[in-house]
Amino acid sequence: MDQLNIQGQILTEKSGDIYLAALRRNSDLSSLPAKYIVQPTVYDDIPPVLACALAQSPPLEIAVKGGGAHSSTWASSNGGIVIDLSKLNKVTLAEDKQSVTVQGGALWGDVYEVTVRERLEVVGSPLWFVGVGGFTLGGGYSPLSGEHGLAIDNMLAATVVLADGRIVEASPHTEPDLFWAIRGGGGQFGIAVDITFKTHPYAGPFGSGVLAYPGSQLPSVLKVIQDWKTTQTPAERFTMTFSRPAPHFKPSIVILPIVLHDENLTRSSKVLAPFRALQPVLDKVAPAPDMKTVSHAADAGLAAAPRRLVIRGTMFSDFFPELLTAVWDRWVAFTESNEDVRASAVLWDMTHPGELTQIPSDATALRNRAPHYWMAVQGRSTTDASVQAARDFTTSVVSLVREKNAELATDLGWFLSMCQGDEKAEDVFGANLARLRDVKARYDPKKVWSKGIVIEPTL
Ligand SMILES: Cc1cc2nc3c(=O)[nH]c(=O)nc-3n(C[C@H](O)[C@H](O)[C@H](O)COP(=O)(O)OP(=O)(O)OC[C@H]3O[C@@H](n4cnc5c(N)ncnc54)[C@H](O)[C@@H]3O)c2cc1C
Repeated sequence: MDQLNIQGQILTEKSGDIYLAALRRNSDLSSLPAKYIVQPTVYDDIPPVLACALAQSPPLEIAVKGGGAHSSTWASSNGGIVIDLSKLNKVTLAEDKQSVTVQGGALWGDVYEVTVRERLEVVGSPLWFVGVGGFTLGGGYSPLSGEHGLAIDNMLAATVVLADGRIVEASPHTEPDLFWAIRGGGGQFGIAVDITFKTHPYAGPFGSGVLAYPGSQLPSVLKVIQDWKTTQTPAERFTMTFSRPAPHFKPSIVILPIVLHDENLTRSSKVLAPFRALQPVLDKVAPAPDMKTVSHAADAGLAAAPRRLVIRGTMFSDFFPELLTAVWDRWVAFTESNEDVRASAVLWDMTHPGELTQIPSDATALRNRAPHYWMAVQGRSTTDASVQAARDFTTSVVSLVREKNAELATDLGWFLSMCQGDEKAEDVFGANLARLRDVKARYDPKKVWSKGIVIEPTL
């Protein structure tokens, strides 16, 4: 591997600090000691690296890193090779400004740097440090999804490096099966070295901020949410968290609104009125001029959070009070039990689901197109000793949500972008799994892409 003549860099332990920096992930639990980290700078760097890794006996495990935000170890390898796309992070706006082509290692912050200058929007992450690659191939639930659907619904094409080293264009016209599979099937089919997205007109200014309530107000907050949902427009995206904010660390319900087209906070004043009537203990909503600003809103809080983080997530059909209350009780008990895990939180996404339901459920590999929301459990620990407890907690809560949702509505399976790898492929991909297995047989029959929720090729 060291002898390969490529334009990018090949790092090993001997490379010192740059190797250690390249191992770093959003969660310390996601980092593994790779034998080689390859940082390609041109697409042609990748095929010889794949060939060399596969020619070893036994072949080296290959992992692909986009932004490194996923909380599993899917973008890392213990003793294998990581193809780290961080130097492939160019963002190129088309001349007609109708689309933007983003390289597979760019972060959403890199995209917003470009789109904000042009007063354009792309359906992307609410957080700047999330990678475009992993976010998009997993579906991509954005604050703009209420108006424009998911990131995959805004994909026009992608350039993909396949397991056999070919570099192909995937679009509705070329390699259409591959194009179908990467929209929701994750990194199981190749490396998306660039993705072209539709752009949209400016959706700001955004009303963004925080309203917080003591836990005793959970029933009233849930009641207001039920009423608000009946009039919610696609321009309002709220996230609710169960968390223990400093300095008091008491169980709290925190609503984080992002309201689009919110000139002079007019729209947010209207939609937040019933939430304000409950007299939150904290009410700080301010105008943010653009998505770049919105994507940095959580920086201070996240910088202070413990870096041992495990996330699991799942889907749910509605804000059933019995479901949310059951999770609340479990979360309060867990975070009270041990100070090490007090920063663990539960997030409930409240994006208007209307637009994503306009796409038929077999048009992309994404399982769910009936109205739904997603939720995530963030298990955080300040010590190694409590990591397992945090892991067990995330598993128990998402299982509870999935089971209760199946009882109250329907089973929606797991959320690929927030899986840990022990989930069954049929639970993640549902009825689309059979076609995914056929596409896997065609594009990666030897399972070179062996990290993540591995899809078994059809025999
Ligand atoms: C704090 C936080 C908030 C989040 N919020 C949201 C949210 O609002 N909506 C949402 O939809 N998701 C959200 N996510 C989940 C996020 O989308 C996934 O974790 C996603 O995988 C991150 O992408 P990445 O490129 O940074 O990941 P990485 O850790 O680099 O990779 C994750 C997986 O994707 C694969 N991959 C990455 N890039 C490529 C590529 N170019 N080609 C092929 N495979 C690739 C990797 O091999 C790996 O299997 C959030 C995650 C975090 C940590």
